[in-house]
Amino acid sequence: MRTEIGFTASLYLIAFAVVSHRAQSFRPQNVLPAGRSKYPYSGAEQTNYHHSIMKFELASSPLSSPSSLAAASKVADETITREYPWYSHPDIGRDRSHVQKHYNKLSNIFRRYREEQQQERKLNDECDEIGNSTVDFTKGSKFILISHNKMWHQKPSPSSSISSPLYLTVSQLEDVISSTRAMEYSSNNGEKESDSAQGKEPFVAWVGKYQNEDYWVVTLNDNQILSGREAEPQSKLKSFLVEACSTESEEYVSSLDSKPLREFGDSLEVSHDAGILATANGLVEFHKSHSFCSFCGGPTESSKAGGSRRCTIEGCRRSVYPRIDSATIMLVTSHCENYALLGRKSSWPPGRYSTLAGFCEVGETLEECCARETFEESGVIVDPNSLRFVASQPWPFPRSLMVGFRAKAMASSTSSVGSGLEPTPLPGIIIDTNEMEDIQWFPKDFVKEGLSLSGSTALTFQPNEVEKKFHIPGKASLARYLIAEWAQEEEKI
Ligand SMILES: [Zn+2]
Repeated sequence: MRTEIGFTASLYLIAFAVVSHRAQSFRPQNVLPAGRSKYPYSGAEQTNYHHSIMKFELASSPLSSPSSLAAASKVADETITREYPWYSHPDIGRDRSHVQKHYNKLSNIFRRYREEQQQERKLNDECDEIGNSTVDFTKGSKFILISHNKMWHQKPSPSSSISSPLYLTVSQLEDVISSTRAMEYSSNNGEKESDSAQGKEPFVAWVGKYQNEDYWVVTLNDNQILSGREAEPQSKLKSFLVEACSTESEEYVSSLDSKPLREFGDSLEVSHDAGILATANGLVEFHKSHSFCSFCGGPTESSKAGGSRRCTIEGCRRSVYPRIDSATIMLVTSHCENYALLGRKSSWPPGRYSTLAGFCEVGETLEECCARETFEESGVIVDPNSLRFVASQPWPFPRSLMVGFRAKAMASSTSSVGSGLEPTPLPGIIIDTNEMEDIQWFPKDFVKEGLSLSGSTALTFQPNEVEKKFHIPGKASLARYLIAEWAQEEEKI
């Protein structure tokens, strides 16, 4: 017992040390930013509120109808029963040792015009050399196309709220690339550009394997779809895609659309698709930002089937692998766990509230990051003894890994100890307005009702009148996962 107390005290001291340098200029006070209306409740305003036994009055809430309550429990349950956070799937194979030679062949295919490819195949057939290829890309390979940083996907109908990725076969992809190259050729007054010109070739990387199918991501250079000459650069590519997918149903091709993954990730229906697309997005972001060696400045080239890049300068030849930035995302509750600390940034769509989060700094543990970020943004001190890992989530926009925690705020220093029936005020909130527009303590009943809305993680989301008052991120976000887990727990009396 003594050891435990000592350990607890040490952790507290560590957390205190981490934040103490800020505390001098950042003392929690009962101060509200001028003109800000607090809803439903801020600890800073009502420091004597006995929140552990009182129920919050929700009659004024726009979300308090019985039907929305029923929906709330349904959505929350679905979210909770999911086994892993969105954008990940444990069955995606990531061992790329089997794909290198196929990757080289694939890269070569995309470098040439279709006519040239056909010519080469004919020659290969005549020489009976085609047997050297052990890979048949016409089977068991699916290709994700990224252009202008957007991914192509489709919906069952234009108004549908669900979507699925556009996976191309190798021949469909060849058709699209051939069309774009042919157009480039004709728009260049018949002058064929050098295939080896930097950045002109389509980029391809192996993404992973799922149920015996290899997934690849392909990006087209912007020049290849004549970005500067088209009023809507993607529209020309769409016409090529429609043509290439002519064997698909009309409905399928008519709903083709391209958006950044983050903007449509909530609408994906199947979690393994979300995992594959997220990996593809992260790989492309890595290759885009590592064209040059960070040691010698020389150009780099893709290696290991797109899993890394290598410097091309003799004598250097250093390899670089995708870097992952660690960030913590934490659901901080009141000490009684009936209230959650949620905040919003001014850049978010109106009404969106989420858990606090922040990047880990050099020399810092994830636990220390939780405590520091919470204090910096809200002035609330986390009880280091309450920190608990919940789940992690890849967030390759461009390269983060979100590590999700639960934590309790320290009981207020003004609280009485002993009977358990004495008032235990919610800790006061001091918002770091450089980071956050608003942060509040939200009671569980209120948040539960918010879960009845599907929410959204998209930055371009257009909330309706109800969502403008309060909504939390959609299913693609680890924040919703953390909030839903907490919301389905019994209220503590
Ligand atoms: Zn180098």
